[in-house]
Amino acid sequence: MRQPLVAGNWKMNGSLKANEALLGDLRKALSGGIKAEVAVCPPFVYLPQVAGLIDGQPMALGAQDLSDQDAGAFTGEVSGTMLKDLGCEYVIVGHSERRSLYGEGDEFTARKFAAARRHGLKPILCVGELLEERESGVTEQVVARQLDAVMDLEGVSALADAVIAYEPVWAIGTGKTASPEQAQAVHAFIRARVAERDAQVAEGLRILYGGSVKADNAAELFSQPDIDGGLIGGASLKADDFMAICRAA
Ligand code: PGA
Repeated sequence: MRQPLVAGNWKMNGSLKANEALLGDLRKALSGGIKAEVAVCPPFVYLPQVAGLIDGQPMALGAQDLSDQDAGAFTGEVSGTMLKDLGCEYVIVGHSERRSLYGEGDEFTARKFAAARRHGLKPILCVGELLEERESGVTEQVVARQLDAVMDLEGVSALADAVIAYEPVWAIGTGKTASPEQAQAVHAFIRARVAERDAQVAEGLRILYGGSVKADNAAELFSQPDIDGGLIGGASLKADDFMAICRAA
């Protein structure tokens, strides 16, 4: 059985004051217990603050990105060692905003995935197609290419303690959600693609859906057989919405 995971991707949002308020509300809401695993991924600079605020709470810490390098002259970069040092358990790798706004390609993303694993972090590997790609019928090719880049570099067994997030780019921050059927079809494709290399790894692999998940559409998405939780952007910044989504998983 795969335990669902709901991870909040705060993106470039938050402040010392806002984080304290948000996590205070989440702490209260989580005190009654929850079935899903919950993680929060604040910006790098707030990781130490958030680590303190969630200490002893049923919440895991994640980062939004990491360097493919371990240490040295890489101005502005943050390494996996540093993230581990601050108590991160997860790190998002290959988010579509990294891919599209910062030109990070499949191979570079795969090297970041490898760097995460070298430091004992669990990568949340994001994959997903652009609107043009969906419309021209190449969704599966795109997702396969993004996934294969990682499996080719690191081997399928590297997915054993990783998480995949399927995030159709056209659904991110747009208010347009993939229908449960559209999402399930791609999730099943991803699991089958991994199963071609290792059925057991595929069976245990958590595949999250991301892209405009809200309190009112989460339950239907999460009820699909191959959807094992969500990667939540905008709605993770509001305690009530995020908790409703966590409870739906
Ligand atoms: P969204 O973002 O929930 O705001 O659409 C999801 C993501 O980018 O991870």
